[in-house]
Amino acid sequence: MSHRVLSGCRATGRLHLGNYLGGVKGMIELQNNPNYETFYMVADAHAITTPFSVNELRQDRREIIIDYLAAGLDPKKSTLFIQSQVSEHFELSFYFSSIETIARMMHLPTYKDKVKQYPKNNTMALLNYPILMAADILLYKADLVPVGIDQEPHLEVAREIARKMNQIYGTKFPEPKRFATKGEYIPSLTGEGKMSKSIEGSYINLTDSFDEIRKKIRAVPTATVSGGPITGGIKTLFIFAEIFLPPNLYQEFKEKYHNQSLKFVALKDTLSEAIYQELKPFQEKRKQIAANLNYVEKIIKEGAEKAKIVAQKTLKEVKEKMGLN
Ligand code: AMP
Repeated sequence: MSHRVLSGCRATGRLHLGNYLGGVKGMIELQNNPNYETFYMVADAHAITTPFSVNELRQDRREIIIDYLAAGLDPKKSTLFIQSQVSEHFELSFYFSSIETIARMMHLPTYKDKVKQYPKNNTMALLNYPILMAADILLYKADLVPVGIDQEPHLEVAREIARKMNQIYGTKFPEPKRFATKGEYIPSLTGEGKMSKSIEGSYINLTDSFDEIRKKIRAVPTATVSGGPITGGIKTLFIFAEIFLPPNLYQEFKEKYHNQSLKFVALKDTLSEAIYQELKPFQEKRKQIAANLNYVEKIIKEGAEKAKIVAQKTLKEVKEKMGLN
């Protein structure tokens, strides 16, 4: 039996290295596995759960589809669509909200973090975020979700909702699991917490030039001498080194660090070059795709049509089971 996969990125600005390594790389891997039917969306409705600009949101929706295509998502293999164009997500999310408590949602660490970050934006939409995400996944009966480790608490909610719906209403939702990549947790360039679009100075965009990457990597805080415990910015650099450098070079830098002969600038510049080399083909492809907006619009339109076929079928089943047909 073929399995379904659902994932997405919020339409909050351009994609960064964390999105690419933790999310998009896993999306590509599953797309290229014939055992999986893959649905990948741009989560524009999730973007309105935190403060946003209308004009930027309008642009970001399309820009992220372009990022997906440039990174290697293929509309012949994956259904690429914009969340709000498949309104079944919202309808299912409302039905799901009837079986999830306010207390459970308020206890989620992701919710608490966002309230701390945007105290004036403690909205119902923010509280509902994990329920909408459960609807995104279960609408396609996806059992595998390629996302970073930061999304694990939300996946737990999706599994809980699937279980409850199956118990109470006799639906047949799978309990979705996370598909992890090597880059499931990309740390911030500041050396504290994760790389995040909403934290200035924490991220490298996929479209950054070599000079921009080098400037950002050179600014990662390190100690004056090497050899101490690997924490903060030094830890960030070594996590990047493990991902981007050949294993022997990574080991060499690590040994130099431990015998106190490492020059941080050498490690930083080697890393900047390796990261840029990884992003260069993406950047070149992105330019070509961005020059052909008719093609992009066509993919968006066809993606929504394809997603709707599956979405409507699930919604019809749920409505029947809940006495809403
Ligand atoms: P978001 O922009 O929050 O919708 O995230 C899009 C994807 O990127 C999701 O799969 C996230 O789990 C992933 N992601 C975001 N930040 C990071 C990070 N710092 N490390 C790894 N994955 C991340």
